[in-house]
Amino acid sequence: MSDCIFCKIVAGEIPSFKLYEDDEVFSFMDINPLHDGHCLIIPKAHYPNIFEAPGDVLAKLMPVVGRMARAVNAALSPDGINIMQANGEAAGQSVFHIHFHVLPRAMGDDAKINWGLRPGDMDRIAANADKIRAALAADGA
Ligand code: 5GP
Ligand code: ZN
Repeated sequence: MSDCIFCKIVAGEIPSFKLYEDDEVFSFMDINPLHDGHCLIIPKAHYPNIFEAPGDVLAKLMPVVGRMARAVNAALSPDGINIMQANGEAAGQSVFHIHFHVLPRAMGDDAKINWGLRPGDMDRIAANADKIRAALAADGA
């Protein structure tokens, strides 16, 4: 979709801190991270939400969600990790290309489900991306 920011990221038309890609799935750092290591997993094809994404696409995404969660956990040792996926504005969805958040948590952070977007420090996000890529390479799965 021409006006979708995540389609533009997949196409390389706008930059991202890419972590992983295969024929159908793409993963990159969130630029408004709740905590260090916050990243996103998306299908390369555009589906707005979980209601419209076919089952075979969801089946391709989920192993990568698991792999990215393990890499973030190994690279950055957050206190915990939520997997989050929002459908509709009321659910906190702000980008209408389906995505799963790997959302690192800190003990006592009291994060709300709609946690709000605060721009991150790009150097810090880049350094975290390097650590996660190294953990992914070490995992090898
Ligand atoms: P949602 O609120 O739809 O569940 O999550 C959308 C996420 O996309 C937000 O966490 C937001 O920070 C992230 N996001 C929005 N625009 C961009 C962008 O241009 N680049 C990256 N890397 N993340 C983005
Ligand atoms: Zn899209």
